[in-house]
Parts: sequence; structure tokens; C-alpha cells
Amino acid sequence: MTSVVSLHPWKRGAHLTSANNQLLIDGVSAVELVERYGSPLYVYSEARLRKNARDILENFRREHANTRVCFASKACANLAVLRVFKDCGLALEVNSGGEFHKACVAGFAPGEMVFNGVAKQVQELREVIEAGIGSINVDSLSELDRIITVAVELGRQARVALRIIPEIRGGAAAGWQTGTSSSKFGMTADEQAEAIERILAQPQAVKMVGVHAHIGTQITDIAVYQAEAAFLIDYVREVSERLPYALEHVNLGGGFAKNYSSAEENFATVAPHYRENYRTDIDFARLAQQLIRPISQALGQGIEIIVEPGRSMVSDTAILLTRIEAHKARQTPVFYLDAGYSVLFDLYNSWYFHMLNASRSDDRDTALFRMAGPLCDSSDTYYDIEGEGAVAELIAEQPALAEHREVLEQVLVHQPNLRELPAATEQGDVIALLDVGAYALEMMSQYCGRQAAAAVLVDLQQGSRLIRRRAEYADLLSHDVD
Ligand SMILES: *Cc1c(COP(=O)(O)O)cnc(C)c1O
Repeated sequence: MTSVVSLHPWKRGAHLTSANNQLLIDGVSAVELVERYGSPLYVYSEARLRKNARDILENFRREHANTRVCFASKACANLAVLRVFKDCGLALEVNSGGEFHKACVAGFAPGEMVFNGVAKQVQELREVIEAGIGSINVDSLSELDRIITVAVELGRQARVALRIIPEIRGGAAAGWQTGTSSSKFGMTADEQAEAIERILAQPQAVKMVGVHAHIGTQITDIAVYQAEAAFLIDYVREVSERLPYALEHVNLGGGFAKNYSSAEENFATVAPHYRENYRTDIDFARLAQQLIRPISQALGQGIEIIVEPGRSMVSDTAILLTRIEAHKARQTPVFYLDAGYSVLFDLYNSWYFHMLNASRSDDRDTALFRMAGPLCDSSDTYYDIEGEGAVAELIAEQPALAEHREVLEQVLVHQPNLRELPAATEQGDVIALLDVGAYALEMMSQYCGRQAAAAVLVDLQQGSRLIRRRAEYADLLSHDVD
């Protein structure tokens, strides 16, 4: 098999190129990085982080100058990444006392943060109210009561926004939809009305500063954002009539879709239905026009618009380098990498990450391979063994279904069964997985006694520096008490 566009270096996005048949990240050789820092290795690009920050701030503030972009730190709370974003002028969204702590260490002022979550603890509420957090996004009446109690105890006034349920479906899968009453998030209209009563009864302890919605992740349908805008405009108007003071902000949440794997051609081997989750014509410019503009026009410049993007700020800023440790020369050869779902958790959710051979990035002679991770369970693969098994089982039970194999695979199989790589690929080569910057470092585990991966940042001077050290055997023992 020869010549696949997906292997062309110029198709990989501006910061990924090649020289001497090796993949470069902002000019730095991937293979040399692995030789220096070991494998598996996350490589973040400072240039790319800055580009994304600039891109969203410029586009959104052109439509509405009074816009605050709170990066959702759960998508990547590495200190070096947080500091780059702070330097770019972003604010922060946190989801726990732990993230709040990290954010403070990174230098963000509590007043520019928003605090989300469905089960906030008393201690966490004490910490953020004491520090004067910008807004606590309230998810339930019981939480509101807790906030009021803590604020009274501290003699402080807590600033809150109500998380509303817009009843909008968005997000690439059911588990990623957070904007309907069948999800676990937010308050119904009745609950909100009651919440406002309780807030107005305790003006010393609590002030309603905003309204908040967050409807899912990787939302690729522009109509969903338009529905969200329309809903929020109505809701802000309605609430404003009930409050004796002006609302300070409207918070649209995050969930913005991002293009994965740089180029359409990279999806040559992926079923079209799955491609839809990863390819989108939505970008910050389009969101500015179709989400920010209507809200700004309807509510005026006086109100602050807050957004909480996570994935869209970091997904394309990192790649994961992983070495081939073993192989089997089956009819379809199998390669085993040193990174599995303990290093890249979204694999467990069958998320598709495009793969290149960083050691032979321009080889045109390609072949198809099965790719697997190192962990001791059969779902640790770069193909969807569960889905393939389900299709086989259905057809075995009802042979007539064989005719509909394609449809069954569309619904049930979430990863391509084979990966196209240079035919010369061999043990010891470094494989690169693209667009792994979101929800990756934060979700690593030490399952199977495997050490969490290191991460480096390629900086603007095209040098690299360690931003997360590789775990050691001592780290595996550090939580156990005997
Ligand atoms: C996770 C989360 C975000 C970020 O979502 P992305 O899909 O990563 O943009 C923003 N707001 C809230 C409330 C969240 O839970």
C-alpha cells in the first residue's frame, strides 16, 4: 500500500512538521525528546497555547468587549500551562478545592475565578468564600443553603450564579450532555424561583451576580449554541425583573468543539459517523458571531459575558509520544505501545486519536496494523474490541443481520480496527498520538503499577523543559501506609 495523504507533514497543523523523516514539534525533534526525557511523553506547544488564547480573546472581545474567558482547568491544570494562560490574560474555572488551590499557586486571583461542581463540600466553600471568589455557580437548593450558612459563619457575602437547565441537548454522546433535566446538573425553573427567594431573604450573606449554563462537550452543531443564546437572553431578562439589583454576568459555560487531528485526510480510515465528533466547522470566530453577538446585542454592553472553554483551548496543543515495545507477526501484525489508557484515559472511552510514526514520519509505503497498549485488560487497545465483539455476537445470534453489518458497526464500533503506518514500522519506533492536550495529564493513573508519564513544554525559543516529572517507583508507594 502506498502514498496516503494522512502521512504528509503539512497536513498536520502548523506546529507539526518534519525533517529527515522525523516528526518535529515547533521545530524540535520528537525522537530526540523521547531520548532525552523517556517514554511515554506528553509534548505541549507554548506557541499553540498562546495562539488559542489569543484567538478566543480577540474574536469574542471584538463582539463583546466585556468578555471574560475562564479556562476550565480540569481540562489541563498543569502549573506551567496555567501560567502561560494567565500570562495571555485568561481567567479560570475551577471544579474543586484542589483546583482552586492549584489556581492560586499558579497566580490567578480568586476574584477572577468561577467555581463549579454538583457536590461542593463545606470546607471547599469556606476556602473560596473566605478568599472572595468571583462566583460560585450554584447547582442545587441544598448547596445554596450550605453557602448561606458558611457565609453567615464567616461574616462574608458570597457571590453566586445559578446553574440553570436550558433543556438543550448538546455534546457528542449521552455522557457528555449536561444541559437537560435528565442529566445530573443544574436547577429546574421551580428550584431557581425558590433559590432567588432564599437569596433575597439573606442579602448580607449572598448576592446573585449571574446565571450559568453549560450544555455538554465537543458540541459540533451550531444550532445548539443558538438555542443556548436564545434561552439565556430570555432567562436573564426574566431574572432581572425579580432582582432589586442588576445582574453582573451571564456565563455560557464551555463545551466548544475543536477540530481533532489537524486535517480531514487524517480521517481516511475512520467511519464517517464517528468522524462527525472530531471534525467541525465551528471555531472561535464563528462562535463569536453566532453565540456572543446575539447575546451582546440583546443584553447590551453593560453585562459581562463569561465563557468556560476547556477542551477547545488545549486539545490541539499537545501530542503523546509512545514507544513500540513489542510486536506479533500475525496475519495483521500487532504492535504494543508503552502508553495505554492509564496514560491517556480517553482511550477507555474509545476516543479516536490519530497516530503517526514519529521515527519515519515521511515514509510513503504504508501498511495496516493492530495497535495495543501495555495494560492487562483487553480493552486497552487502539481499536474497539468491545464494539467489534458486540457486532460479531449479534450476527452470530441473528445471521440475517450480517446484511446490516455496516450499520451495526456505525452504531457500535467507535474506533477504526486498523491503523495505517509506515510499512517499515518496527519495535523501538516512536509513535505520536495527535491532539491529546485535553483531559489527559489530569486523568492519568498508576493502574498496573505503571508510572504516570512525564510532560514537556516546547517554548517560544524552541527549547524544551520538563513541566511534569515522570512518576517513579517511590510514587507508587507514596500513598500506601503499612
Ligand atoms: C467541564 C466543564 C467545562 C469545560 O468543558 P469543555 O468541554 O472542556 O470545554 C466548562 N464548564 C463546566 C461547568 C464544566 O463542567
